[in-house]
Amino acid sequence: MEHTRRIIVLGSTGSIGTATLEVVTHLASLGGPAYRVVGLAAGANASLVARQAVEHGVRHVAVANEEAARALPPGATVFSGPDAATRLVNEVARPGDLVMGAIVGAAGIAPTLAAIERGCHVALANKETLVAAGAVVRAALTRMRVQLLPVDSEHSAVFQCMRAGTPREVQRLVLTASGGPFRTWSAERTRNATLSEALRHPTWQMGRKVTIDSASLMNKALEVIEAHWLFDLPSDRIDAIVHPQSVVHSFVEFVDGSTIAQLSPPSMKLPIQYALTWPDRVAGCSPMIAWDALRSLDFEPVDQDRFPAIGLAKRVIDTGGSAGATFNAANEVAVEAFIQGAIPFGDIATVVTETLDGLASQPVGSLEDVLAADAEARAFAAARVAERRGVTA
Ligand code: NDP
Repeated sequence: MEHTRRIIVLGSTGSIGTATLEVVTHLASLGGPAYRVVGLAAGANASLVARQAVEHGVRHVAVANEEAARALPPGATVFSGPDAATRLVNEVARPGDLVMGAIVGAAGIAPTLAAIERGCHVALANKETLVAAGAVVRAALTRMRVQLLPVDSEHSAVFQCMRAGTPREVQRLVLTASGGPFRTWSAERTRNATLSEALRHPTWQMGRKVTIDSASLMNKALEVIEAHWLFDLPSDRIDAIVHPQSVVHSFVEFVDGSTIAQLSPPSMKLPIQYALTWPDRVAGCSPMIAWDALRSLDFEPVDQDRFPAIGLAKRVIDTGGSAGATFNAANEVAVEAFIQGAIPFGDIATVVTETLDGLASQPVGSLEDVLAADAEARAFAAARVAERRGVTA
């Protein structure tokens, strides 16, 4: 990088957000020009965002929870309320800035789109944005001529592998999945898994929602849809495969029969750093593979019966329109219901399937269309949860 760039971190208090700030600190320690953090957005963790603001000299902070925002010490300009992150972007972002989109869930959609509309490049961890609003995001990216850099490790892997050929030379993308904590469990045991069991991810340390999504493979489903929007491929050219070691982060098959894969130990700092320094590579702060200690790399097909998520993702891609927003919203409602103990783990996929079955896909051309589909799906999925709670009570 030739000069210091400005970065805004949305979701700065989360797993990806804190890792992003560590990468920013690491890049600064390399001595060359790097990033200046000019805005931070969080949900409710005011004490952490306040510490981050002091540490990185940030003057503009957004906190969605208004009560939490009141606890912020004086000094920074504070945006608060449900649209705080979007207002921060609209007030602070300048064309050419980089915005890290690391808010969890549909709450990340509006601020990410606002960043693109301001002419910012976006490093995107928030997969829900592309799943729910892929067509709107793609149109905005083209209009604003800005870059979308994938942060999800699988999509970063594909993005890196793509450098080995042209898009026309790509045959198929294969996203790897750790298989989550229930990979070897029976169908019955998986169905009744507890919250603490679902939160025990074998290879990754992540936020709560994405960890539960990993256990149900809904995370992989979201990623298959995300890959469709990022790399412009139809559902029959995107697949998922279980790879328990999480060392091969994904691979790309080219038409001549060559497969290019990206490998590294499971650490999000590498894909975050790649998004921050792309198209360059600089010394990293995540470990290299210890080849001497690596004994095997295993792969197995996804058990579609126990984990219907990948089939649902392909259905969503083929349906198009508002199906992505419906799928994402229903999954968010179902995950929250599971966290609250309202439905068993096995009902997450059922609630999502019933919502997709019950709501016809509508054309989606704007953020308003996306948010309307999101709201309708939330209400529909919540009713399905209430019904099931009645059944299981
Ligand atoms: P976390 O739960 O750890 O963090 C979520 C972040 O979003 C927190 O900073 C939270 O703030 C913030 N947030 C929540 N609601 C709002 C809101 N309304 N306005 C502003 N900020 C809000 O999640 P992760 O970091 O694990 O994941 C973030 C995203 O990245 C998800 O979409 C996930 O799927 C994706 N991702 C994560 C990976 C990982 O390894 N963790 C890997 C690949 C993708 P607060 O805590 O203050 O409430």
